[in-house]
Amino acid sequence: MSRLDSFIRRVSAQRDCLNQVAEDLKGTEGSILEFGLGNGRTYDHLRSLFGAEDIYVFERKVNAHPDCIPDDEHLILGDVLETLPTAKDRIGRSVRLAHCDIGTGDKEASLKLAAQMSVYLDQLLHRGAYVVSDQPQEVEGWEAQPLPENVAPGRYHIYRKA
Ligand code: SAM
Repeated sequence: MSRLDSFIRRVSAQRDCLNQVAEDLKGTEGSILEFGLGNGRTYDHLRSLFGAEDIYVFERKVNAHPDCIPDDEHLILGDVLETLPTAKDRIGRSVRLAHCDIGTGDKEASLKLAAQMSVYLDQLLHRGAYVVSDQPQEVEGWEAQPLPENVAPGRYHIYRKA
């Protein structure tokens, strides 16, 4: 598979997973967390699905398209392992969806970061909340959910807090 094919499959999987979860969350209320602003693609998509008001973005260093940068109130700057542990004071246990996309080419480091984050993230999720993730997660009480039919197993991951 070419790198172009691989990229297209990855971003299609992100879009399809987020769309599927947004459909399930219709009529619910609560915060949305975006981990990894990057150039703002998935943030912009989340904004189109849920509106910007409920979305908090965690990012180490902003390098996004200027149209896709959240306001200061919704941008939590710094290393996520430093900002996430204290985010409960600001966000509470109000989260209905977290999208985790902070993996890099280093698979081992990405898995480790995802596992470290999940301990704190779990404390922010209310019952029935979704986690859509670029990395697999093994967290007690997070149940793996079916993927959209055109997303290959393992390409992206959806969990729901029981
Ligand atoms: N979802 C984004 C998009 O659609 O454009 C792409 C996100 S990009 C793959 C990963 C982002 O995670 C990078 O912008 C990087 O700076 C951020 N990141 C990686 N490790 C981080 C950490 N420990 N704390 C905060 N941000 C981190």
